[in-house]
Amino acid sequence: MKFEKEIEDIKIAIFDKLKHSSTTEEIETIRAQYLGRKGIITQKLKNIKNRSKEERPVYGKIMNALRVTIEKAFEKKNKETTKTKRTKDFFDYTIPGDKKWLGHHHPLMKTMTEIIDIFVKMGFAIEYGPDVETDYYNFEALNFPKDHPSRDTQDTFYLNNNLLLRTQTSPVQVRVMESRKPPVRIISPGRCYRVDSFDASHSPVFHQIEGLYVDTNVTLSDLTGTLDIFFKALYGPSTKIKLTPHFFPFTEPSAELQVSCPFCEENGCTTCGHTGWIEVMGCGMVHPNVFKSVGYDTNIYTGFAFGMGVERICMLKYGIHDLRLLFGNDLRFIRQF
Ligand SMILES: [Zn+2]
Repeated sequence: MKFEKEIEDIKIAIFDKLKHSSTTEEIETIRAQYLGRKGIITQKLKNIKNRSKEERPVYGKIMNALRVTIEKAFEKKNKETTKTKRTKDFFDYTIPGDKKWLGHHHPLMKTMTEIIDIFVKMGFAIEYGPDVETDYYNFEALNFPKDHPSRDTQDTFYLNNNLLLRTQTSPVQVRVMESRKPPVRIISPGRCYRVDSFDASHSPVFHQIEGLYVDTNVTLSDLTGTLDIFFKALYGPSTKIKLTPHFFPFTEPSAELQVSCPFCEENGCTTCGHTGWIEVMGCGMVHPNVFKSVGYDTNIYTGFAFGMGVERICMLKYGIHDLRLLFGNDLRFIRQF
């Protein structure tokens, strides 16, 4: 019959609109448009009386069937929409959280902390001093007279004739000795500066940790004993140390300390230059002139001092071959530690 096409068109239009709707509000609007009190289908059913007697039963039957089909479609679409909405808003509290990347200490600071921890356990106190020092504390009080050639090895950045960036952490030792009487047992960690070009083993900025022990009857064997314990704690119990005579203005006798290579167990490798030993620090018995400058009686007190570059200790510990990596801030490198 002629109305069948008309009904089919309505059906197609409704399904198309439903397909493109995504919220319950949109679906409700379409429903009102067709099935509401003034809706298209409702009106058509009302106007059934205007149809011919023959048409009426068939028309009514088809229209009712359409209404049922459409009601079901609306219901289905409504359910789907609500479900999607719930899935979107749903938060599962039992899912393990996103792991945030936590920062950690730079390998240099890790090494520094480790060194400090070992000495603190042995009874050393930590002392800090200023990065900007006077010529007196950085050189003169440490037995580097003005114009003495030993100053050449520690060329630094001068702020004026008297102020400079410290070349070593030893000035802290002088400051501490000036402020108190023995016994003195301290370590002084900190940043130092020298006019050095930046290469695989030098940096104009570097870190040192120095140690000082002053008391009655402090001998060279106290020095070797203390450092032996320190390096065994740092590099492992099989580590050996060896002292070779050297010159430093502020100690007498002075020595360079070498440790057995932690990488080859003295068999020789590229790190130790095939010698089995690596030079890691300077040390010695405090020079009487240093004691005189701080007013300690050299007839009563003796002491030992040592100093090490933290970069070198760190590079040996982690097998790093280029100092520049420590200052490069490359996270791919730093995150390995
Ligand atoms: Zn080696």
